[in-house]
Amino acid sequence: MREYVVPMCYLAAAALFILGLKGISQPKTARNGLRMAEAGMLLAVIGTLVQKEIVSYRWIAIAMVVGAVTGVAMSLKIPMTAMPQRIALSHAFGALAAGLVGTAEFYDHQGSLSRFIILAIVLEVLLGFLTCTGSLIAFGKLQGVLPGRPLVYRGQNWVTLGVLALALASGIGLVVSQERTALFVVLVVLSLAFGVQLVTRIGGADMPTVISLLNAYAGLSAAAMGFVLDNPLLIVAGALDGASGLILSIIMCRAMNRSFTNVLFGGFGQVAESAAGGAAEERPHRSATPEEAAMLLETAREVIIVPGYGMAVSQAQHKIRELADVLERNGARVRFAVHPVAGRMPGHMNVLLAEADVPYDKIIDMEDINGDFPQCDVALIVGANDVTNPTAKTDPSSPIYGMPVLDVASARIVMVIKRGMSPGFAGVENELYFLDKTLMVFGDARAAVDGLLRELEAVVPA
Ligand code: NDP
Repeated sequence: MREYVVPMCYLAAAALFILGLKGISQPKTARNGLRMAEAGMLLAVIGTLVQKEIVSYRWIAIAMVVGAVTGVAMSLKIPMTAMPQRIALSHAFGALAAGLVGTAEFYDHQGSLSRFIILAIVLEVLLGFLTCTGSLIAFGKLQGVLPGRPLVYRGQNWVTLGVLALALASGIGLVVSQERTALFVVLVVLSLAFGVQLVTRIGGADMPTVISLLNAYAGLSAAAMGFVLDNPLLIVAGALDGASGLILSIIMCRAMNRSFTNVLFGGFGQVAESAAGGAAEERPHRSATPEEAAMLLETAREVIIVPGYGMAVSQAQHKIRELADVLERNGARVRFAVHPVAGRMPGHMNVLLAEADVPYDKIIDMEDINGDFPQCDVALIVGANDVTNPTAKTDPSSPIYGMPVLDVASARIVMVIKRGMSPGFAGVENELYFLDKTLMVFGDARAAVDGLLRELEAVVPA
C-alpha cells in the first residue's frame, strides 16, 4: 500500500506546486495559489513521514516545534516593509539545511558513493553554503546591521573568482577521489567565503534583486539534494524554486532597466548614497495644503492614485482606500497605477492594496494604464518617486535612464505626497516635482492622506 501512497503524494504535491506558482502570478488568484502550494507542502510532508525507515520521528518533532514557534513569531512580528530581509533569513536557513544534509550524506556514506552522487553533493554543498552566508549578509545590509554601501577593494574580482575556482577544484578533487576528506572541509569553507565575497560588494539598494538570485541558488541546491537523497519531489520543487527565482531576478532587472552584471558588479548603492541630498530644496516648486489639494480633488472626475515605497513605510494603504471611497461617492472614477518595482519587492504595492481591500480590478499595471494619464484630472502620487521620474525617458545621463516609468507627467494635475524633496531609492532628483502642474503636499503619507480625507468628508455627503 505504502509503495503507492508515497509516489501519489509526491505526484500530487508536484502538481499543486506548479498550479500554486501559476496562481500566485495574478493578484486575483494569489490566495488560491498559496492554498494549493500549502496543500502541496502538506502532502509532501505526509509522503515523507510515512516512510518510517528513513525518518526519525523524535528529531522531526523537535525540529517542527522549533520551526513552528520561530515561523509564527516571525510572521507576527516582522512588518511588511521588512519582508525582503525576512525572505533573506528564510533563504539562509533553508540553504544551510541543504548544505548540512549534503555534509551528513557525504560523511555517512563516504567510500560507497557513486561519482554522480558525489557531484550532486558538491553542487548541493557549494550552492547551499554560499547562499547561506550570502543571504545573511543581504539580511544584515537590509536591516542596517551591516553597512549598506558596496564593499569594494582593488583586485576584488580576482579574489572572488579565485575563491570560486579553488572551491570548484576541491569539488572536482572529491569527485575523482572521495577519500580526500580534507577537500570536503576546504569546499565548505570556500563556499561560505564565496557567499560573503559575492554579496558584500553589492550595495544594500540592490539587495532585493540579489535575494531573488540567492533564491534561485537555494532552489538549485535543493534540486541537487533531491538527487543525493533519491527524492524526485525535491528535484521538482528545487527546480521550480531555482527557475522562479531566476525569472523573478530577470523581471526585476528589466523593470529597473539594469543588467545582471550591472547588479552584481555595478556598485549601484554608491550612486544612491552619493547622489542623495543634493540641492533639490533650492529649486522652485509649488506646494499645497491638504485643504487646497482637497478642493482640486473634489472637482476631479478621473483620479489615478500611484502608490510607492513611502506608502509602505507609513502604512497609508487603509487611509488611501478610504480616500478612494470618498472620491467615488463624489462621482469620480478612481484607479490605482502599480509599477512593477514600486516599493522594495515585486508585488509590494499589490499586497498592501489587497490588504486594504482595494478591488483587484481597480489595480492596473503600468503598461495598461500609461495611455490613460492624459485623460486623468489628478494623478495622486503617494510616497512614490523613481517610478514616476520623467528623466528616465528623457535624460540619457540619468542612472535610471531607460527604466520604464508611469507617465504621470501627462495628467492634468499632479499631486505628490511625500515628506520633503529628498530623492528616492536611485538617488536621482525627480524633474516631475518642478513642473508647473505639480503640487507638493508635504507630510507623512498616512497623516497627509488623512488630512485630505477629513477635508473631503466635510464636503462630500456620506
Ligand atoms: P522610491 O524609493 O523611489 O521613493 C520613495 C519616496 O517615498 C521617497 O522619495 C521618500 O521621500 C518617500 N517617503 C518615504 N517615507 C515616507 C513617508 N513616511 N511618507 C511619505 N513619503 C515617504 O520608491 P518608488 O516606489 O517610487 O520606487 C521603488 C524604487 O526601488 C525603484 O527605484 C526601484 O528600482 C527600487 N527597487 C525596487 C524593488 C522592487 O522589487 N520593488 C527591488 C529593488 C529596488 P521623502 O523622504 O521626501 O518622504
